[in-house]
Amino acid sequence: MKDATAQTIYLKDYQVPEFLIDKTHLVFDLNDEFCRVRSSLSIRRNPESQSSSSPLFLHGGAELELQKIEIDSAVISETDYQRTAEGLIIDQAPDNCVINIEVLIKPHLNTTMMGLYKSRTMYCTQCEAEGFRNITFYLDRPDVMSEFTTKIIADKQQFPILLSNGNPIDQGDIENGRHFATWHDPFKKPAYLFALVAGDLSVVEDSFTTCTNRNILLQIFVEEKDLNKCDHAMLSLKNSMRWDEQTYGREYDLDRFMIVAVDDFNMGAMENKGLNIFNTSAVLANPKTTTDAAFQRVEGIVAHEYFHNWSGNRVTCRDWFQLSLKEGFTVYRDSQFSADMNSPVVKRIEDVVYLRTHQFAEDAGPMSHPVQPDAYMEINNFYTLTVYEKGAEVVGMIHSLLGDEKFRQGSDLYFSRHDGQAVTIEEFVGAMEEVSGQDLKQFRRWYKQSGTPVIDVTSHYDPEAKTYNLTFEQSCPATPGQSQKKPFVIPIKFGLVGADGRDLPLNNQGDQSMVFSLYETSQTLVFENLQQPPVPSLLRGFSAPVKLNYNYSSDQLAHLMANDSDGFNRWDAGQKLSLQVLNKLIEDAKAERELVMDQQLIKVFKSLLSDHSLDPAMVNLMLQLPSEAQLHEQAEIIYVEAIHRARQFARQSIATALEQQLASTYQRLTETQDYAPEANQIGRRALRNCVLGYLMKVKTVGPELAWQQFNNASNMTDKAAALSALVNCETAQNYATQALKAFEQDYCDETLAMNLWLQVQATSQLPEGLERVQALMEHSAFNINNPNKARSLLGAFCSANPINFHNKEGSGYEFLQQQIIALNALNPQVAARLVTPLTRWKKLPEPNCQLMRDALQQIANHKGLVKDIQEIVTKSL
Ligand SMILES: [Zn+2]
Repeated sequence: MKDATAQTIYLKDYQVPEFLIDKTHLVFDLNDEFCRVRSSLSIRRNPESQSSSSPLFLHGGAELELQKIEIDSAVISETDYQRTAEGLIIDQAPDNCVINIEVLIKPHLNTTMMGLYKSRTMYCTQCEAEGFRNITFYLDRPDVMSEFTTKIIADKQQFPILLSNGNPIDQGDIENGRHFATWHDPFKKPAYLFALVAGDLSVVEDSFTTCTNRNILLQIFVEEKDLNKCDHAMLSLKNSMRWDEQTYGREYDLDRFMIVAVDDFNMGAMENKGLNIFNTSAVLANPKTTTDAAFQRVEGIVAHEYFHNWSGNRVTCRDWFQLSLKEGFTVYRDSQFSADMNSPVVKRIEDVVYLRTHQFAEDAGPMSHPVQPDAYMEINNFYTLTVYEKGAEVVGMIHSLLGDEKFRQGSDLYFSRHDGQAVTIEEFVGAMEEVSGQDLKQFRRWYKQSGTPVIDVTSHYDPEAKTYNLTFEQSCPATPGQSQKKPFVIPIKFGLVGADGRDLPLNNQGDQSMVFSLYETSQTLVFENLQQPPVPSLLRGFSAPVKLNYNYSSDQLAHLMANDSDGFNRWDAGQKLSLQVLNKLIEDAKAERELVMDQQLIKVFKSLLSDHSLDPAMVNLMLQLPSEAQLHEQAEIIYVEAIHRARQFARQSIATALEQQLASTYQRLTETQDYAPEANQIGRRALRNCVLGYLMKVKTVGPELAWQQFNNASNMTDKAAALSALVNCETAQNYATQALKAFEQDYCDETLAMNLWLQVQATSQLPEGLERVQALMEHSAFNINNPNKARSLLGAFCSANPINFHNKEGSGYEFLQQQIIALNALNPQVAARLVTPLTRWKKLPEPNCQLMRDALQQIANHKGLVKDIQEIVTKSL
């Protein structure tokens, strides 16, 4: 059957399911060329449904080879049902019955990685959002929750390990060297949380005792060669389990918790009940092959998926428009966890950089949508930064409006009231409203209105009256389908910093920091008895996901950088100062004027490097100039070359002026302890590698240091940083060639390290980037079928190497267009993600603007385009 023409699905059309499935029995008979799937579904008509006579509709993809249908043990004939592009219609289904269905599927031919598929030698599944319908006919929607029993039959030698959700209840050998295992999950769940794994896997085991003294078996299944890379994930899992008990009062419910690592996976990981399936990149970690950033990613993702056991599984989504109910809340929970495990300020800054760079760009582009979208063509396109990251910010704002105690009461009420249910975002906000007594009616606009709000702040000091006024005005740019916006409720945490660097009291109680709720278009705050005009410290801790403008002088910013009691705002003042400097340089570069470096920024950086009492992690973050991607986001029109030149010039000037301080910082931070992925060491390594990056701009010094570091590094963080520094340095190409070769020899058997090797080259800013990427596509380390590799090479080049991707000939765009067409047939989800850079064509000047549009048009014209790509391309054009 053909792909259905892409239809738009609307939230307003939601209806309760007409039928329910109380119990689901599945038998998977795995064979080399096919898998026989037998299902037995206890179905009944939903008493809450309005329609009492509608036929039974079951979702099912075109690839299902239907063998047999029985209703209450009687085989029904082909005239009793109808096959459509979307599934199966059974006209005369009784109100209460057991339906048995048998289908054949071919997992070894499934390249989409949705449903049941093969990754290397193992079988695994991915069912969120709508993959279960590629396995068998079913009511594949999250509000149909069922109790699953799953039997897996396979060859014992090839597939000694057979796993599914819940607890094992039976296993044994059968004829022909085959065996079986049966699993039962006592918790009702929607089909998207179903999972199955069959493979030749090794296991690392541990245990966890819960707060009520139950002993839980913890298992991480990997290929044997990866057994030495599981410790960090296991530790992170145990930390997550304890943290969720202590912070949210959530205890684990099954007797065992399993994680399986697979190489071919479209996303990071999946929270299937009791059986999480992870991309190897999100679970494996070892100092020799894994960077600090990847260690922290493992910790964050293990926590995220574990936390879903409550925020997602025990309480799930009614429909996919509620995706942020589980994702926004769970991202918020995992960021709280990571903050507690490491440094809260550093974590906050990293999250905000990510949000500002990528989510703000999404919110300003053609795919802009609210945290709760009201329509979609392909739900896979809505696993977005807006639903996840902005959704988490919205939960964070509820937390700061309610305070710790009420927020926890609200989450307790939400979990207890809706345990075992599929609910909506409204239920979550409602619980928060109920416990706090606060009216969150206007606040709900955060879920419904898209776009990044802008706050313009002005101040006025009256020297006679000694009063100081702060006026806040909010607005929000028009976004697709939403030309007019109503005011948001925006919690703005702020303080006033005096000339001596100390916070001034804001009221009679002497508060030095407070949260002000901006809910009208314009509001003014008045402060009395101020002897001098203060410097306002606004949006402390980034208390809302907005763009805030205040006309700071560079002296004021330097004052905040040195004195603000809020760590986030100390950093942000530095970012604002850097942005002022860079924006001036970009203007000059555009006009081809001589570039002159601002001395104030150099002075500030010098004092940062000279003060050894500062936290290296913070110094590192403060020395980072806003990335090119961030400069693109905040630009009206993206002048790629001018932005690149200006930023490189600033880096060069800083390096030249501060060579001595940089070099001594590099030496001072030489690590003497054994490697550990803990916050202090990570901070020192980050600063040292940041300093190395600057030193690469100083002829001979940098390349020599990087080459030494590459050869002597005891861990992948330092090795990869040195490699990247060499690869990006024009005068170090001799070393770069040798280093790339040595790396390849040492790590050719380490898939994840080789992905890093691809990525480092894909993001090299030196000329002829496209040619390098094309050559690497022929390398044995690359394989377009593997999502990690496609992202490491193609994704990294197109989204993180602007100077090469946006070349004037448009060959970067043409290349991306070809790759998307190639992936269209293989893996729609990966293809759809790759399109993003082209969708920003409106922000590029000519000729790039037209060339990008042409590339998008070519994609649109392609016959047989999957709806994932169709939706994005249509909206962009
Ligand atoms: Zn999630």
